[in-house]
Amino acid sequence: MFDTHELGRRPGAQQRLTRTVDAPKDFGIDGVIGVPEGAPLELEVRLESVMEGVLVTGTARASAKGECVRCLEPLDLEVDADFQEMFSYPDADDRSRVTAEPADDAEEDEDRLFLEDGLFDLESVLRDAVVLALPMQPVCQDDCPGLCSQCGARLADDPDHHHDAVDIRWAALQGLAGTIQDGEKDEMSGAEAGVDEKQEK
Ligand SMILES: [Zn+2]
Ligand SMILES: [Zn+2]
Repeated sequence: MFDTHELGRRPGAQQRLTRTVDAPKDFGIDGVIGVPEGAPLELEVRLESVMEGVLVTGTARASAKGECVRCLEPLDLEVDADFQEMFSYPDADDRSRVTAEPADDAEEDEDRLFLEDGLFDLESVLRDAVVLALPMQPVCQDDCPGLCSQCGARLADDPDHHHDAVDIRWAALQGLAGTIQDGEKDEMSGAEAGVDEKQEK
């Protein structure tokens, strides 16, 4: 929660704040990358008094934790998220309601944030800004080669890693041989099961 009482209501007044807060829950993209709950969230905020409320501009910095989408290595990422939001005075809204078109007003109200007793809550604004600043597909390094499609080894650890083309064909043949053997085993076990049945009778 931020307090605007010190700022006052004189349009043009400005106040700068620096604050470190604990990151709330669910601060990121679920299951992909996010700022862990309780991790420090450094805020630089500028409050600016305008006619209808307080314009809040700022930057949030935090360290997000996630996993590389290519090689699944854990990764840390510094997030730098800019935000800007208008918090209106509740009474200023009453004044604008008189002049505004009813339809426009209803639409605006949905997204509009208000000061409550001179206080405002930045949590949802910060969450949106941080989520927007995070990559949907985080990678440990821009050119992460990912995992070997054949054996699952992490290619960044082993740049020379490769399998010979001959190996691939041989593997396919081995797979085929395995299938034939499985078929024979099935017939065998069927015969065995028949024997068991006879013995039981
Ligand atoms: Zn990676
Ligand atoms: Zn491999």
